Amino acid sequence: MNSMTTLQRDNLFPAFQDQFGREKRKLRISVTDRCNFKCVYCMPEHPEWMKKHNLLSFEALYQFCDFMVRRGIQQIRITGGEPLLRQGVVHFIAQLQALRKLGLKRISMTTNGHYLKRFAGALKQAGLDDLNISLDSLNEAQFHQLTQKQLQPVLEGIAAAQKAGFSIKINAVLIKGLNDDQIIPLAQWVQQQNAELRFIEFMPLDGDQHWTQQAVVSEQQILAQLQSRFDVQMMQGQGANPARSYTVNGRPIGIISTITNSFCSSCDRLRLNAQGEFYNCLFARQGLNLKAEIEQLSSAESAAESALQQRLSSYIWRKEQGFHAIQQQANNSRKISMHMIGG
Ligand code: SAM
Ligand code: SF4
Repeated sequence: MNSMTTLQRDNLFPAFQDQFGREKRKLRISVTDRCNFKCVYCMPEHPEWMKKHNLLSFEALYQFCDFMVRRGIQQIRITGGEPLLRQGVVHFIAQLQALRKLGLKRISMTTNGHYLKRFAGALKQAGLDDLNISLDSLNEAQFHQLTQKQLQPVLEGIAAAQKAGFSIKINAVLIKGLNDDQIIPLAQWVQQQNAELRFIEFMPLDGDQHWTQQAVVSEQQILAQLQSRFDVQMMQGQGANPARSYTVNGRPIGIISTITNSFCSSCDRLRLNAQGEFYNCLFARQGLNLKAEIEQLSSAESAAESALQQRLSSYIWRKEQGFHAIQQQANNSRKISMHMIGG
């Protein structure tokens, strides 16, 4: 690359913005749709996996991250499916460190925790900043009913991540009649852990579209249970954080209440799935297939960057107001589920 091209590539551009003035600072990248778990609220009964040859390579993903960081992205979260199932993900995280000098501040991962015992040390060494680990139940049988997997490896994975020095958030999706009896046990358990707990309202993004409003355990219902046993205080200043923050007996607990108290008005997130489809919202009815443009980026042709910039800016600009606005539209059905887009 000649010095002129280097100069152009290092230039920083204004942050992407949508029609409601929300600047985009966070990018979530799903590196695979495959998963070793089958969570009832996420995976379809018969998943049709993306073809391996359709996935973006880590080289292409790196070029895209470089492009996005120069346009204001400050935090990148690696997700899936189960991100630790994709070979090469640790090396990818190590590569991303080079983007810190361009403004990248945090590199995070969301995982089911099953493989953390094996990978926690390597992830720390690669420069990962923090981990969100899903844990919906402390009851062995119930955990199996929810995920089709054993609880023990996840608990061991959490311990390994803590030993490796990670700051951890535990994500628990609650479903009425299935695991809403876990609110108190999880809140008690986290008091002994060096971790923050976040309860998540069940969203209509499950693979087989069985979601109903009645199955949602609302923020209010979660709070009522917590207040029956603990001292609960609300904390101020949610900002662009999806979780509303509380302290429960002095420890922070968040509630992501997309259904009953959505944080959409300050949403600063963008998403890319493993085969290069880009989403301006978790609930967007249409993504933008950018695979070809992303694969062109490595050619160092400024025309490739301009083409991508144009398509992205206008798609991001059209980002809708949020979950409730999209739900109210007549034709709001879509087939994409959480395991394809990464949460
Ligand atoms: N496999 C990893 C994991 O489970 O942490 C990462 C991918 S998973 C799709 C990301 C997050 O989405 C997890 O915390 C999971 O609990 C959450 N999730 C999946 N389906 C959901 C749904 N229908 N409603 C709310 N959260 C959901
Ligand atoms: Fe897999 Fe995560 Fe979905 Fe569970 S929530 S099926 S662990 S991708």
